[in-house]
Amino acid sequence: GYHRVVNENRKLYNMVQDLRGNIRVYCRVRPSFRAETKDVIEFIGEDGSLVILDPLKPRKEGRKVFQFNHVFGPTATQDDVFKETQPLIRSVMDGYNVCIFAYGQTGSGKTHTMSGPSGGMQKDRGINYLALEDLFHISKIRSCASENGLNLPDATMHSVKSTADVLQLMKLGELNRAVSSTAINNRSSRSHSVLTIHVHGKDTSGSILRSCLHLVDLAGSERVDKSEVTGDRLKEAQYINKSLSCLGDVITALAQKNSHIPYRNSKLTLLLQDSLGGRAKTLMFAHVSPEVDFFGETVSTLKFAQRVSTVELGAARVNKESNEVMQLKEQIESLKKALANKE
Ligand code: ADP
Ligand code: MG
Repeated sequence: GYHRVVNENRKLYNMVQDLRGNIRVYCRVRPSFRAETKDVIEFIGEDGSLVILDPLKPRKEGRKVFQFNHVFGPTATQDDVFKETQPLIRSVMDGYNVCIFAYGQTGSGKTHTMSGPSGGMQKDRGINYLALEDLFHISKIRSCASENGLNLPDATMHSVKSTADVLQLMKLGELNRAVSSTAINNRSSRSHSVLTIHVHGKDTSGSILRSCLHLVDLAGSERVDKSEVTGDRLKEAQYINKSLSCLGDVITALAQKNSHIPYRNSKLTLLLQDSLGGRAKTLMFAHVSPEVDFFGETVSTLKFAQRVSTVELGAARVNKESNEVMQLKEQIESLKKALANKE
């Protein structure tokens, strides 16, 4: 077992981060696939601290300490993870834009967190399903894949009435997703998967709320040479890595508070623009594998995650239009239609 501490540090750390409006970062360590060997996790604190240790190195060099909003250890359940995420997801219903994205090397548990085990089984469903069920539970919502602005040629938009409708759509999405084997993991996915839920609603004063929830399962963050891929697969991997390195560039620029943030360098960063530097509420899950073989990738994921946690967002904003503005807009629309009919 891991040592655990209970203290007030995490509460304080999270409060300060919330006040500053930082991107939240949760780390999740999946169970080891090699129970017989010692893994690299030395300590997981309830205060969000994580200590890793490379058993093959001298202690001084091999020991690294990180601090996040929360760390989920190998025994954490899907429900544990959802419980810590639910308030953020529910704020979509209050008109906030919310983005949750999963980062980490192939095989570290990104898809497990977001979708759950493959095949969409009832057991161990991930955030995508639990979030939808929760939102439907609260209200009726309308879901579309990437409505306006960005040109994603293969994205489609669907109206849904229930979680079952969405499950159907997500199965289709999973089939469409380019999945191929690599040396690291045969369920490896070389593509990003984005589920966007647009919420339209009315608050008690009759004002119109429009918000969206992005749920993003990123492609594996590992360096390409490790997967020993060649040919088309290599090209694909390099292309994927390009958008992830654009994400890294954006995070670095934001962390350094540069005046120019290079969102335009990839569709991924354009899509996430509002979530990374805007007025959204954003949470990143950094996934790591506990096996010693992946120590290098684990360190690089955790370092990236640490950098992400220093990014400050603008104060999150409710997307609200007053009843009067809505009525005026509707009037304009109907006048436009009348005019078009006359011509
Ligand atoms: P990724 O999407 O990052 O490539 P996956 O989510 O496919 O990784 O996880 C790789 C394997 O590990 C899968 O077989 C998955 O079911 C398993 N796994 C990942 N995280 C967990 C977890 N927290 N508990 C149990 N099994 C997990
Ligand atoms: Mg995956």
